[in-house]
Amino acid sequence: MPRRRKLRKIVAPPGFRGYKPYGFRGGRNNGHVDLLYEEYEAIKLVDYDLMNHLEASSLMGISRPTFARIYESARRKIAQALAESREIRTVYGNAYMDKTWYICNDCNARFTIPDSINHYTCAICKSENISSVTSNN
Ligand SMILES: [Zn+2]
Repeated sequence: MPRRRKLRKIVAPPGFRGYKPYGFRGGRNNGHVDLLYEEYEAIKLVDYDLMNHLEASSLMGISRPTFARIYESARRKIAQALAESREIRTVYGNAYMDKTWYICNDCNARFTIPDSINHYTCAICKSENISSVTSNN
Protein backbone atom coordinates (compact mmCIF):
# COMPACT_ATOMS: atom_id res chain seq x y z
CA MET A 1 0.00 0.00 0.00
CA PRO A 2 1.49 3.38 -0.94
CA ARG A 3 2.28 5.59 2.00
CA ARG A 4 0.24 8.74 2.06
CA ARG A 5 2.46 11.80 1.78
CA LYS A 6 2.31 14.01 4.81
CA LEU A 7 0.82 17.37 4.02
CA ARG A 8 2.57 20.61 4.91
CA LYS A 9 0.54 23.36 6.42
CA ILE A 10 0.88 26.75 4.85
CA VAL A 11 -0.72 29.99 5.99
CA ALA A 12 -1.63 31.49 2.62
CA PRO A 13 -1.00 30.69 -1.03
CA PRO A 14 1.55 32.74 -2.99
CA GLY A 15 0.00 35.96 -4.27
CA PHE A 16 1.03 35.16 -7.86
CA ARG A 17 1.03 32.27 -10.29
CA GLY A 18 4.59 32.74 -11.41
CA TYR A 19 7.51 34.99 -12.26
CA LYS A 20 8.88 35.57 -15.72
CA PRO A 21 12.38 36.85 -16.49
CA TYR A 22 12.69 39.65 -19.01
CA GLY A 23 15.49 41.37 -20.85
CA PHE A 24 17.80 38.36 -20.86
CA ARG A 25 20.26 37.30 -23.54
CA GLY A 26 18.69 35.38 -26.37
CA GLY A 27 15.22 36.25 -25.16
CA ARG A 28 13.91 32.79 -25.87
CA ASN A 29 11.96 30.59 -23.51
CA ASN A 30 14.36 28.63 -21.28
CA GLY A 31 11.62 26.58 -19.68
CA HIS A 32 10.41 26.88 -16.12
CA VAL A 33 10.86 25.51 -12.61
CA ASP A 34 7.91 24.38 -10.51
CA LEU A 35 8.04 25.93 -7.05
CA LEU A 36 5.77 24.02 -4.65
CA TYR A 37 3.54 26.02 -2.31
CA GLU A 38 5.35 24.51 0.70
CA GLU A 39 8.68 25.58 -0.81
CA TYR A 40 7.40 29.11 -1.28
CA GLU A 41 6.17 29.06 2.34
CA ALA A 42 9.53 27.79 3.64
CA ILE A 43 11.46 30.58 1.88
CA LYS A 44 8.97 33.18 3.06
CA LEU A 45 9.04 32.08 6.71
CA VAL A 46 12.86 32.00 6.93
CA ASP A 47 14.06 34.72 4.57
CA TYR A 48 11.17 37.17 4.77
CA ASP A 49 9.56 36.60 8.18
CA LEU A 50 13.05 35.82 9.61
CA MET A 51 12.04 32.72 11.57
CA ASN A 52 14.54 30.02 12.44
CA HIS A 53 14.05 26.49 11.07
CA LEU A 54 12.60 25.22 14.34
CA GLU A 55 9.89 27.89 14.46
CA ALA A 56 9.11 27.50 10.78
CA SER A 57 8.92 23.71 10.91
CA SER A 58 6.53 23.74 13.86
CA LEU A 59 4.33 26.30 12.11
CA MET A 60 4.14 24.01 9.07
CA GLY A 61 3.53 20.91 11.22
CA ILE A 62 6.59 19.02 9.98
CA SER A 63 9.90 17.85 11.43
CA ARG A 64 12.94 20.06 11.29
CA PRO A 65 14.83 17.74 8.89
CA THR A 66 11.82 17.68 6.54
CA PHE A 67 11.62 21.45 6.72
CA ALA A 68 15.34 21.73 5.95
CA ARG A 69 14.88 19.55 2.84
CA ILE A 70 11.95 21.64 1.58
CA TYR A 71 13.84 24.87 2.24
CA GLU A 72 16.96 23.60 0.45
CA SER A 73 14.89 22.47 -2.52
CA ALA A 74 13.22 25.89 -2.69
CA ARG A 75 16.56 27.70 -2.71
CA ARG A 76 17.96 25.47 -5.44
CA LYS A 77 14.93 26.02 -7.64
CA ILE A 78 15.03 29.79 -7.22
CA ALA A 79 18.78 29.83 -7.86
CA GLN A 80 18.29 27.71 -10.99
CA ALA A 81 15.57 30.05 -12.23
CA LEU A 82 17.86 33.07 -11.73
CA ALA A 83 20.99 31.47 -13.17
CA GLU A 84 19.24 29.96 -16.18
CA SER A 85 16.72 32.77 -16.83
CA ARG A 86 13.81 30.41 -16.25
CA GLU A 87 10.24 31.18 -15.41
CA ILE A 88 9.05 30.22 -11.90
CA ARG A 89 5.61 28.66 -11.64
CA THR A 90 3.91 27.94 -8.35
CA VAL A 91 2.24 24.55 -8.00
CA TYR A 92 0.19 23.17 -5.16
CA GLY A 93 2.51 20.33 -4.08
CA ASN A 94 1.74 18.66 -0.75
CA ALA A 95 0.40 21.69 1.03
CA TYR A 96 -2.82 22.26 2.91
CA MET A 97 -4.41 25.40 4.25
CA ASP A 98 -6.77 25.99 7.16
CA LYS A 99 -9.19 27.76 4.87
CA THR A 100 -10.13 27.19 1.27
CA TRP A 101 -8.46 29.83 -0.84
CA TYR A 102 -9.69 30.99 -4.23
CA ILE A 103 -8.02 32.71 -7.15
CA CYS A 104 -9.90 35.17 -9.34
CA ASN A 105 -9.23 34.37 -12.99
CA ASP A 106 -10.01 37.96 -13.98
CA CYS A 107 -8.01 40.09 -11.50
CA ASN A 108 -5.72 37.37 -9.97
CA ALA A 109 -6.79 38.22 -6.40
CA ARG A 110 -6.33 35.54 -3.71
CA PHE A 111 -9.06 35.38 -1.09
CA THR A 112 -11.05 33.14 1.25
CA ILE A 113 -14.82 32.98 1.49
CA PRO A 114 -16.40 32.91 4.98
CA ASP A 115 -18.58 29.85 5.71
CA SER A 116 -21.58 32.10 6.16
CA ILE A 117 -21.47 33.18 2.51
CA ASN A 118 -22.62 30.79 -0.18
CA HIS A 119 -22.26 33.10 -3.16
CA TYR A 120 -18.94 32.43 -4.79
CA THR A 121 -17.59 35.61 -6.32
CA CYS A 122 -14.24 37.43 -6.26
CA ALA A 123 -13.84 39.47 -3.07
CA ILE A 124 -12.18 42.27 -5.07
CA CYS A 125 -13.85 42.60 -8.48
CA LYS A 126 -17.01 40.45 -7.91
CA SER A 127 -16.22 38.25 -10.91
CA GLU A 128 -17.75 34.76 -10.82
CA ASN A 129 -14.77 33.40 -12.77
CA ILE A 130 -12.89 31.99 -9.77
CA SER A 131 -11.09 28.71 -9.01
CA SER A 132 -9.99 26.98 -5.85
CA VAL A 133 -6.20 27.17 -5.43
CA THR A 134 -6.03 23.43 -4.78
CA SER A 135 -6.55 22.77 -8.47
CA ASN A 136 -3.62 23.38 -10.81
CA ASN A 137 -4.31 26.62 -12.66
ZN1 LIG B 1 -11.39 39.48 -9.23
